[in-house]
Amino acid sequence: MDDDADMNTALMIDGNAVAGRLEDIFGRDMTTAVTRCAGCANQAEMGALMAFVRGPGIVLRCPSCQAVIARIVETATAVYFDARGAAFIRLGARS
Ligand SMILES: [Zn+2]
Repeated sequence: MDDDADMNTALMIDGNAVAGRLEDIFGRDMTTAVTRCAGCANQAEMGALMAFVRGPGIVLRCPSCQAVIARIVETATAVYFDARGAAFIRLGARS
């Protein structure tokens, strides 16, 4: 996969725009979940990541170094959540 092709800002959407999809998948609000970039160790809330729509999926990138933090691809039968670019994703306690 060409990692640079989706840097086209025309495809860029706000991370909060994918909040609804994330909430569907995880069953909770994920916009305030904190991610640590595996590349540069920058920590950012998921709602603050750069989100790109690419083909059937969504790509979330680090706002500091632009590395891919996570990819979400939905098929007819499953959701693939690839978060290999995150050292961790920290979810707050449920209120
Ligand atoms: Zn980074």
